[in-house]
Amino acid sequence: MNNVSHLECSSCGKHWAARKIYNLCPECKMPLLVRYDLKAAKEQLIREKLNSRRKDMWRYREVMPVVDDANIVSLGEGYTPLLPARKLGRVAGLENLMIKDESPNPTASFKARGMAAAISMAKELGIQKVVVPSAGNAASAMAAYAAQAGMEAHIFMPKDVPRANYVECTSFGARVTLVDGLISDCGRLVAERKDKEGWFDVSTLKEPYRIEGKKTMGYELAEQLDWRLPDWIVYPTGGGTGLIGMWKAFEEMEAMGWIDSKRPRMVTVQASGCAPIVKAFHEGATKATSWPDARTIAAGLRVPGAIGDFIMLDVLRKSGGTAVMVSDEELKAAVTDIGKHEGIFCAPEGAACWPAVRKLQSDGSIRPEDRVVMFNTGSGLKYLDVLGD
Ligand SMILES: *Cc1c(COP(=O)(O)O)cnc(C)c1O
Repeated sequence: MNNVSHLECSSCGKHWAARKIYNLCPECKMPLLVRYDLKAAKEQLIREKLNSRRKDMWRYREVMPVVDDANIVSLGEGYTPLLPARKLGRVAGLENLMIKDESPNPTASFKARGMAAAISMAKELGIQKVVVPSAGNAASAMAAYAAQAGMEAHIFMPKDVPRANYVECTSFGARVTLVDGLISDCGRLVAERKDKEGWFDVSTLKEPYRIEGKKTMGYELAEQLDWRLPDWIVYPTGGGTGLIGMWKAFEEMEAMGWIDSKRPRMVTVQASGCAPIVKAFHEGATKATSWPDARTIAAGLRVPGAIGDFIMLDVLRKSGGTAVMVSDEELKAAVTDIGKHEGIFCAPEGAACWPAVRKLQSDGSIRPEDRVVMFNTGSGLKYLDVLGD
């Protein structure tokens, strides 16, 4: 059961046959996107019948890339709650503030969605060894799904990575190399060694399927809001997989007649110590330049250069959205603010959405009656060495 028609390059537009192993577009080395026969999908996947489906991200099976069900590697990812943030909303004078809480995912972050899809496809394509350079949650999620799939997992982490992520990865049986350097140095080591070692690189947007997992956040949001998307989606952005994925979900749902053409304004939130997309957005650039000396406690936002920058900037502009930066002090304070009002222990990345919402309110962009969804992308429990005092 599968409706994939082909893969399409996000930059040169060239089409590539499905069911083959790709990293980037073989021609222009840019990210590939999965395309479906949505007419066929629409016949099989009936919006009104979703209720009886499995309660994880695979409930949208017909718009997922795996062919054989037996290749689905799952730990129960997705189907996370969309919580009304009533008390926080009252503080801000917002009537419809919501939090899509991704912390209940396996390995306690939304990286589980992307990695479940990527590892399932790796299994389907006969890949046995996977590798990722990661400062945190991507590594944990990859290690968990690789363990479930019986694959060999190799991880290159900067040696100052949060301890939780390191211990988690070794507990999943991954082979972890701690690198004396930055995430970019980890990436370089992976690039040097992967061909010789026969490792498949599952870095963000460097393989086509993590996006397919992350896009299910868009499907879920629509389903949970009874097919009326919110006015604003506020999203802590690193590599941009979630932002790009949700936008893709909206296009697919519109093509299937599930939603209309109205889109939420998409807001990228980054830390002021690493805000390449915010800078590029406000400069009117179509690509971002690499951020020197990237620093923030929000490890998932410590992405100085993202290969999908041009797609993110396009999405932000098309949606009428914007990009906001918040300081580490602000996002740290937000962890406590959200915690004490809502009982959610946010990852600092997710918490950053709150000061961003406040800024957009004070400049008059967000109005009191607007429906606003903030994404809490992970659990604060992974960050005990940088949170609290
Ligand atoms: C990776 C990560 C992000 C950034 O996600 P992208 O979709 O790659 O932009 C945000 N928050 C947390 C907790 C993360 O682990």
